[in-house]
Amino acid sequence: MNEEILINLNEKQLNAVKTTEGYVRVIAGAGSGKTKALTSRFAYIVKYLGINSSNIICVTFTNKAAQEMKKRVKKLIGDSFDISLITTYHGFCVKFLREDINKIFYPKGFLILDTEDQKTILRNIYTELNITSRDLSFKQVFKYISNSKKGLDYLNYVLQNKTIETNKDDKLLNTIFQKYLEKQKRNYALDFDDLINFTIYILTNFDDVLNKWQNRLHYIQVDEAQDSSENQFQLIEMLSRQHKNLFVVGDPDQTIYEWRGAKPEYLVDFDKIFPDSVTIIMNQNYRSTPNILKIGNHIIKNNKIRVDKEMITQNPEGIDVVHFHGCHEFEESLWIAKEIKEIIKIENAKFSDITILYRANYLSRNIEQALIKENIPYTIFGGVKFFERKEIKDILSILSLINSEDDISFLRMFNNPTRGLGKKFLENLTLVAQSQNLSLFQALKKNIEKTELSKKGAKDFLDIIIELKELSKIKSISDLVKDILDKTALGELYRKDGDEERINNIKELVSSMILYENESQEIVTIQDYLQEISLYTDLDTNNDIQDKVKLMTIHISKGLEFPYVFLCGFTEGVIPSAMAIKERRNRAIEEERRLTYVAITRAEKRFYLTESEGFNFISGSNKYPSRFLFEINENFYIRKGELSQDIINEAKLQLNLNGTDNLEYLNVGDFVFHNVWKKGIVKEVDREKNQYIIEFMEIGKTRPIDFSFKFLTKLNQESTSNRIIKSHNNKEEKVLENKRIQSNESNNKKWWEFWK
Ligand code: ATP
Ligand code: MG
Repeated sequence: MNEEILINLNEKQLNAVKTTEGYVRVIAGAGSGKTKALTSRFAYIVKYLGINSSNIICVTFTNKAAQEMKKRVKKLIGDSFDISLITTYHGFCVKFLREDINKIFYPKGFLILDTEDQKTILRNIYTELNITSRDLSFKQVFKYISNSKKGLDYLNYVLQNKTIETNKDDKLLNTIFQKYLEKQKRNYALDFDDLINFTIYILTNFDDVLNKWQNRLHYIQVDEAQDSSENQFQLIEMLSRQHKNLFVVGDPDQTIYEWRGAKPEYLVDFDKIFPDSVTIIMNQNYRSTPNILKIGNHIIKNNKIRVDKEMITQNPEGIDVVHFHGCHEFEESLWIAKEIKEIIKIENAKFSDITILYRANYLSRNIEQALIKENIPYTIFGGVKFFERKEIKDILSILSLINSEDDISFLRMFNNPTRGLGKKFLENLTLVAQSQNLSLFQALKKNIEKTELSKKGAKDFLDIIIELKELSKIKSISDLVKDILDKTALGELYRKDGDEERINNIKELVSSMILYENESQEIVTIQDYLQEISLYTDLDTNNDIQDKVKLMTIHISKGLEFPYVFLCGFTEGVIPSAMAIKERRNRAIEEERRLTYVAITRAEKRFYLTESEGFNFISGSNKYPSRFLFEINENFYIRKGELSQDIINEAKLQLNLNGTDNLEYLNVGDFVFHNVWKKGIVKEVDREKNQYIIEFMEIGKTRPIDFSFKFLTKLNQESTSNRIIKSHNNKEEKVLENKRIQSNESNNKKWWEFWK
C-alpha cells in the first residue's frame, strides 16, 4: 500500500508531500491536485514517517470538502486509522470544547444551536419585548448578532459578567442581543459563531490547554484555505506555534464565501506572515478536458482583483462545451433530461456520473419536474427536494384542506403557525370526529360551539379555511396563494424569519402555478392542480435506487468533481445574483464570477450551460442570459436552442441600463449604435479609463465613450436591429418592451411586489 501513496504525483506534488516540516503553502488553480497532494501528504506522514494519525489535523470550511478529504485518505491508508481530526473547523471546535469547555464552567454536554433553535430563542425574546417582525426582521437581528460576534469582546459579558459595549444607534438590536446572550448562557447553548470564539477564548486564557493541544497536533493541514476566516486562521496559527508544521492549500480564484467572512488575504500573504515559509505553485490541471478548462480560464480572467494564473492540461481535447437556450423553462429542463439520456446511451455512463448545479435552491423545482417526468432518478445533495420543503408543503396542505378537508393536511396546519391549540384540544376533537364519523375539519365546523372545542385559535382557523374556500371559487390558484399566506399568517411567519430561501421557494411555486395555468386550456381547479403535482410529491419514488443524478448548489460542489456537469439557470440576476450585487456591488460580481469558475471546473468530460426565457420572480424582471455568457468567446462553445440576436442585444442593453458595473463587453472592431451619433465602430478598449474609443461614421469623428454609458449597444455586424433602433428612438421604458410574456406580466408583477 505504501507505494500507492507516491505514485501518480507530479514533481511539485511530491515536493509538497515530502516537505513535511515547517510552514508550507500550495497555491494552484482548480483540479490541479491540491487535495490529492494534501491527502497523500497525510498518508505519507502516517505511513512513511510513522506518526500517529490522531496527531494530524486536517481542516476546511465546508462539510462536503471535509468528507472528500476523509474519503481520499481512507482510500490511501485504509480503515484502521483514527481520522476523526479530518474535519471542518466547526467539527474540530466541537471536539475541542467537549474536552475542555469545563475550564470556563460549562458542562461538556453543552447544547449546539442550529438556525431553527436560534429562531425559537428570538421568537421568545420578541414576545417578551412585545415587538413583531414589522419592527425588525430576524434577518437583521442575525446579521447584528453575527457582526457582534466577530470579535471576542462579547465573551467578557457572557463569561465574566462585564458590561457590554453598546451602540447607541441600535438600542433595540442591543437589547435583543443581550437577551439572546443571557438565554444562551442560561441553557449552556452555543451557536456556530460561539464554537470557534469559545475555542479561541480558552486557548488564549488557559496555557495548559493551549500546550496540550499544541503538543498533540504535530501536523496541521488546511484545504480550501481561501475560504477560511480571520478567526479560523488565528486558530490554526495558535495551534501550530509549537511544532511549526502548517500546510495550507488553496486557490484564491475559488473564494466563494467572502459574504460569510472568508479572508483569502491570509492565503495570499502567507509568505509575509511566515517569512520562512515555502510556496509551491502548480498549474497543471488533471481533471478537465482542454475545452472545459479554456472556458474556466476565460471567465475568471475578467476578475480585476486577482493574481493572473492560467491552468493548462494534457488531457485529450474532449467534447465541445454546450450552451443551451430554451424559449421557456420547460424547454430548458426537458432538454437537460434528454441530454442526460443521450450521455447514458453514448458514453455508457451511470446516472451518478451526472451532476446538475445551480446558484440557488429554488432552481431545483424546474429541473426536478423534468427529471421525474422523464423517469430519471435523482437526489438533492445536501438539501431537500422542492416539494418536500416545509414552506411548499404548508401551502399545498392548505390547498388540500380547502379542496378535500382531509385529516393529514388538517393535522399539519391547524396549529401552524401556532394558535395555542395543544394536545388536549386535538384529543377532544378526535373523539368528537370519531363519534360523528366526520373528518377532523368537518367535526370542528359542526361542533365549534361545544365548550371543549370552542377556543379562539380553533375559531380563527375555521374562519380562515372557510373564507379561503369561498375565495377559491373566484380566484386562480396562483392568486389564492397570496390569500393563503396573508390569512393563515404563514406569509408573516416567513417574512419574520427573513429566510430568503423560503420566500424564493414560494415565489418559484407561484411562478410554476402561473405557467401551469397559462398552459392549460381550461380553468385549473385545485383538484386538477393537486393531482398534477401529486406526481412530484410522492415520497416513495426512487428511494431504493442508488444510481441517481445529483443536484446541488455550486457552493456545495466546491472541492468535488464529476464526469458530466450541467450548470442550469445561467440567467442574469440568478448568477450573478441580483441580491448579492445589491448588497455588495462589484465585489459581489467578482465573487459570482468565481462561483461560475468553480462550477465549470467541477466537470471532467462534458460541461453544459443552460438558461431560458420567461419572467424571473426573484429579481422581478424578464430573463436574459447571464452577463458571464457574453464574456466567453463564442468560438469556445457550441450553442443549441434558439437564441435570437434581439435577445442578446436586449440582454446587453439591459445590463447597461441597470448600470450595475462598469461593464465592458465590446471588442475592437465591433459595430455599435449610439443614441445621438448613430453608427460607430470600436477602435480601442481603454481599460485604464473604463472607456471605448469609438469612431462614429455619421459625424466622421472619434469619441471616448464610458463602459457604463446606457445608450450604446452592439450591432450585429453591419445589419442594424430594428428593435434596438426603435427602442432608442422611444423613451427608456420602452427599451425592454417584451411581448413574450405580456399576457402574464400584470400577474407576475403583482406577485413580485407582494414580497418586496
Ligand atoms: P479543487 O481546486 O477543485 O479543489 P484540487 O486542486 O484539489 O481541485 P484534486 O481534486 O486533488 O484537485 O485533483 C483533481 C483530479 O486530478 C483528481 O481526480 C485527482 O485524482 C487527479 N490528479 C491530481 N493529481 C494527479 C496526478 N499527478 N496524476 C494524475 N491525476 C491526478
Ligand atoms: Mg481540492
